[in-house]
Amino acid sequence: MTSQKELDTIAVENFRQYLRIPSVHPNIDYEPCVEFLEKQAKDIGLKFSVFRDVPRNPMVVLTWTGKEKSLPSIMLNSHMDVVPVFEDKWTHKPFDADIDENGNIYARGAQDTKCTGIQYLEAVRRLKLKGVEPRRTVHVTFVPDEESGGVKGAIQYVNTENFKKLNIGFALDEGTAGVGDTLVVYYGERRGWSFRIHCRGQAGHGSLLLENTAGEKMRYILDKFYKFRDEQKIKEIKEKRTDHITSINLTMLNGGVQSNVIPDEFTLVFNTRVPVDDFEKFEETVNQWCKDAGKDIWIEDLHKGGKYPITVTDDSNIFWIAFKKAVQLIGFKIDLQIAFANSDAQYYRAAQIPTFGFSPNQGTPWMGHDHDEFLNVNVFLKSIELYTCIIPALSNA
Ligand SMILES: [Zn+2]
Repeated sequence: MTSQKELDTIAVENFRQYLRIPSVHPNIDYEPCVEFLEKQAKDIGLKFSVFRDVPRNPMVVLTWTGKEKSLPSIMLNSHMDVVPVFEDKWTHKPFDADIDENGNIYARGAQDTKCTGIQYLEAVRRLKLKGVEPRRTVHVTFVPDEESGGVKGAIQYVNTENFKKLNIGFALDEGTAGVGDTLVVYYGERRGWSFRIHCRGQAGHGSLLLENTAGEKMRYILDKFYKFRDEQKIKEIKEKRTDHITSINLTMLNGGVQSNVIPDEFTLVFNTRVPVDDFEKFEETVNQWCKDAGKDIWIEDLHKGGKYPITVTDDSNIFWIAFKKAVQLIGFKIDLQIAFANSDAQYYRAAQIPTFGFSPNQGTPWMGHDHDEFLNVNVFLKSIELYTCIIPALSNA
């Protein structure tokens, strides 16, 4: 018999080992992750597969075979890649997985999303030791390239024969933590749209007050965007959630050749996330602003997210019912939300797989992509316990 304390030690050690693999963008070598996960599969007693449909971007699957193999399976998904670090801004080395005196484990990926992958696996380990046998097959999946938008990952994998053979009926993917006894569950995402606005105008000597300059047009555009942004901010503070909020940020600004020359062009790049139902109206509004700003202004799309479906949360979704019952039974409430950012979940939903974005690391401030990303060891372990309630419920749905 493995004691609870031993199980906790194993879980924390595995988490720290995984965090020490620098699977960081760009040009990631995923092979150390693949090796590490293969060892986990052996330890826990799970079937191990690697899909290599996308060169240098493997997808790893650890399978806990169910009693009724023909039923659609459950996918527990996380991504292996992490975003770059500014090491001088960290108080701990970002790939050492140090633990401080409060039990906080510091590392890039501690929240986004190496914790999630290990929590699924450690929950499965515990369930197996208790002799639990799942009804539906459970696939714990580790995908590459989520942080670059899934271009070399989920976007391609969902269309492969390997993926289709998994016969997935429901998926859990990354999410963000709630507070206290309220769990946050994402059932959809806002639609991302990044674009560059080209403002062209009269060039000339820097001493002249010329008409029709690129700068004046840029100013008009900025005024419109920032007024709208202010309104959205007020609404967000009032509603305390981002479901119906459009986020707008100016992320790049270019133009000019030298200080005494009025340039013929300025360009502005905006990153926006728009509630799916508001998207067409927002696009129209942006086009109108550009028209009103004067002639010779055009929009270059950099990335326009698809119109992806949401996951239904009514009685027709047996996995939602099972999930809800399982967490209510142990005293949790659910706050259903539209996610503020985009993740691979949107591609699973597009492939007709009902998907929830979920992380039970209650009370943890969201620090994905931030300096000193950390997760507290007690929170990490509590989440494993929660998954041991959720996974069998989903598998038995
Ligand atoms: Zn992530």
